[in-house]
Amino acid sequence: MKIAVDLHSHSGYSGGVGKIRLENIAETMKLKGIDIFGTGDCLHPAWNAKLKEELTETANGIYRLSGFPKAGFVLQNEMVLTAALSPASKTRKSVHMVFLYPNFHSTEIVSRLLDKYGVKNTIGRPFVKLESPAAVSRFLKNVMDAAPGTLAFPAHAMTPDGIYGSHNPVTYLEEFFGDYAKEIRLIETGLSADPEMLDRIPECRSLNFISNSDCHSAALNRIGREFTLLNVDTPDYSGIRKALTETGISATFEFNPREGKFFATGHRKGKEGHSHESFRLETGKIPDRCPVCGKALTIGVADRVSQLSASQKKQFTSKILHRDFHHLIPLVEVISAGLGQKSVSGKKVLSLYRICVEKCGNEVSLWQMKLPELAQRLQKLPDSVLASILSVHEGKFTFDPPGYDGEYGKLKILRD
Ligand SMILES: [Zn+2]
Ligand SMILES: [Zn+2]
Repeated sequence: MKIAVDLHSHSGYSGGVGKIRLENIAETMKLKGIDIFGTGDCLHPAWNAKLKEELTETANGIYRLSGFPKAGFVLQNEMVLTAALSPASKTRKSVHMVFLYPNFHSTEIVSRLLDKYGVKNTIGRPFVKLESPAAVSRFLKNVMDAAPGTLAFPAHAMTPDGIYGSHNPVTYLEEFFGDYAKEIRLIETGLSADPEMLDRIPECRSLNFISNSDCHSAALNRIGREFTLLNVDTPDYSGIRKALTETGISATFEFNPREGKFFATGHRKGKEGHSHESFRLETGKIPDRCPVCGKALTIGVADRVSQLSASQKKQFTSKILHRDFHHLIPLVEVISAGLGQKSVSGKKVLSLYRICVEKCGNEVSLWQMKLPELAQRLQKLPDSVLASILSVHEGKFTFDPPGYDGEYGKLKILRD
C-alpha cells in the first residue's frame, strides 16, 4: 500500500511560531494528499496534553482527529543534541534529530528520561547537553531501550545545524554519534539538499533518505512542501517504521536544492558589514575571508558536499541504493507564479488551487499524474497557470540566484 508521509513539523510551541490548530493541519493534509503527518513537539507538556485530548488512536501508533477520518498523525518531535567532538575542543557542536514514537506511553517515558538528563523541556525542541560522542551514543541507546520502537534520524543533514552542516566539521557520522552511527539507517535530506547531492557523500550511499517539510505552519505551501511516498505492509506505526528503515521508500519529493536557504556560499545583503552589497560565490575556490566584510563565509551545501565527498576516504562496501526523487514546488506557489502574483494566499490563487484539487483529487496525486492526463484535467485553467504547472511537473524550473546565507533562491519557471 502506498502512503504519502510528512514526518517532521513543529507546533506553536517552537520559538517564533504562531498558534497552529490540529483542525487546520488536518484540513490542509486533505487538500495536499498527505496521509500521515508528524505532530511536532510531542514531548512539550502542553502540546502533548493537547494531542492526547484531541486525538484518538485508530491503528497502532496512528492517531486521528474527529471529523477527519483520513488524516493520520504520528507522535514526533525534534531534539537538538549537543556535544564536544573531542576532549580538546572547547566548543560544543549541535545536531538536530527527528524522533518518532510508537505511542503516548513512549513519549511519557522519554520525557522522564529527559528530566534525568536535566533537560528543560519548555521550547518545543528540547536541547540535550551531552559531553562527547560516546555520551550521544549512550543517550540514544537509552532512549531506544526505554521506549522500544522509537525511531531517530538526523534532521536536514546539510543545513548548518544538520550532522554534515557547515557548523559541524565532521567527516563521518561516528564523529558525532559515536557507536550509535552504526544504528542509523535513515537520514533527512532537508530543503537544502537532494538525494543526488547526498549520494556524492560515500557514507550516505547505503542510507535511506526521507524528505519532510519541517514546517512551522499549517499553510498550503508549508505542509508537505517536501514529502515521502512509502510502500507499507500495514498502514500503522510499525509499517511506517519498517518501510523507513528497510526497503519501503518508494520516492521522495523535494525542493530543488538551489531554492534552499543555504545552497551557495556567501554573505547576504543586510548582514553586518553588508549594508549595501551581498557576496555570493559563483564557482571556484572558496576564499578564506569574505572580500566585503572580511569575516568567514557561510559555506553553502554545494561546497560542503564537495568537501565531504573529497574527504571521506574509508571504503564503504554497500552498493548505492535505488533512489526515485522529484523536484517540486508547492502548487499554490506555482499558481501564483503563473498569475504573475507575489502572494500565495490571494483569492484568485486559492480558487484556482481548489479547481486543481477537485480535478485531480489532491496535490500529491496531481504531481504523480501522467502529463497528458494532467493537461486534459486542468484544461480550463488560464493558459499561463496551466503552462506553469506543466513545466514544474516536467522539472523545467530553477532558482536563479540560488539560495545562500539564509535567503531562499528566486524561482524561475522555464516555459517552452
Ligand atoms: Zn531542525
Ligand atoms: Zn561578508
